Amino acid sequence: MKTRMRAPKRPASRVRGQYAREPRSNFVSGNRLALLCLCIAILFGVLWTPSPIPNAPASPPFEVVDLPGRGKGLVATRDIKRGDLLIREAPLLRIPQQITSSPTALLSSLLSALPAASLSAFFALSAVHLPSSPDPDPLDVALAIVQTNAVAAGEGHIGVFPTMARLNHACAGAFNAVYSWRAGEGVLVVHAVRDVRRGEELLTTYMDTKRKREDRRAYLLGQYAFNCTCATCSLAPALSAQSDARLEEMAALYSQFASWGGGAIDGRAAADIARRIWALGEAEGYVSERGRLAGDVVWVAAAHSDVEALRAWGALAEEWYGYELGRESAEVRGVREAVARPAGHAAWGTRPGMAIGGGP
Ligand SMILES: [Zn+2]
Repeated sequence: MKTRMRAPKRPASRVRGQYAREPRSNFVSGNRLALLCLCIAILFGVLWTPSPIPNAPASPPFEVVDLPGRGKGLVATRDIKRGDLLIREAPLLRIPQQITSSPTALLSSLLSALPAASLSAFFALSAVHLPSSPDPDPLDVALAIVQTNAVAAGEGHIGVFPTMARLNHACAGAFNAVYSWRAGEGVLVVHAVRDVRRGEELLTTYMDTKRKREDRRAYLLGQYAFNCTCATCSLAPALSAQSDARLEEMAALYSQFASWGGGAIDGRAAADIARRIWALGEAEGYVSERGRLAGDVVWVAAAHSDVEALRAWGALAEEWYGYELGRESAEVRGVREAVARPAGHAAWGTRPGMAIGGGP
């Protein structure tokens, strides 16, 4: 049976795989123009003036600062409310996740088409696992920058975004900003998922952090070469063990919840699991992904023709999608449509009628 149930949204990539660094010899002479452009940009550090993006915050509520021992980061310059739009920007580069040609050849071609100012912004980004040579090939540097900073940017694509790339990482309940790609507008938006006080650092997450501390830290060290010292990773042992147990239970429950798609559990059981995930998130301070969770329960409610549950979960989905993805997002519009016309929902009546129960 058709289902829209998906795994929770992840900040999919900071991708490797296809963009794993290639041997220097793969760089071919046809890339000289790009190389020249790169060198000019690096040497002269052209000042970067981003092109205006419609509806971007006129005065961003943060500044880019140097953080001792941690490179650059974004720090709030005023109090921020949950749901506030923080960043809205077009990619410097947007590239397919799977390619058949050489990654450096593709990068060379894309970079050579960039204005000098954008090129400069690109090469100002940091990279882990930089080439060790004292005189590295700029395209190897470019590849390392993509590997470090690229994030999911629509179906099958990744992108590099100059401001978003300055967001540092925190785990579980410690991150306060979430990014998402707007396919219809070709921009990335970043919203606050909790209130942030002036002077606090804005933090997003580079991975699905519903894992125990030891696993999170090992992954982050391997992939990004840093020891995570976020508030969740810094908990005292007893509290950290409780946090680990909650996060691992949430991950297991998400898998059980998704099994409704294959018919392994019924709608009432799926809604019970969603309520348990919600409660665990409350205890952990992990409020990300709630819009998607409630939106998926709307789907379940529609399938079982439970209008009352659809409306209750629909209100939650609208609220939390609104915080995380924006009140004008396609997801919020979709939920409003479902609440207004339950019987018009794509899943309506595709499972036996059943009262699944309202939200938490
Ligand atoms: Zn952490």
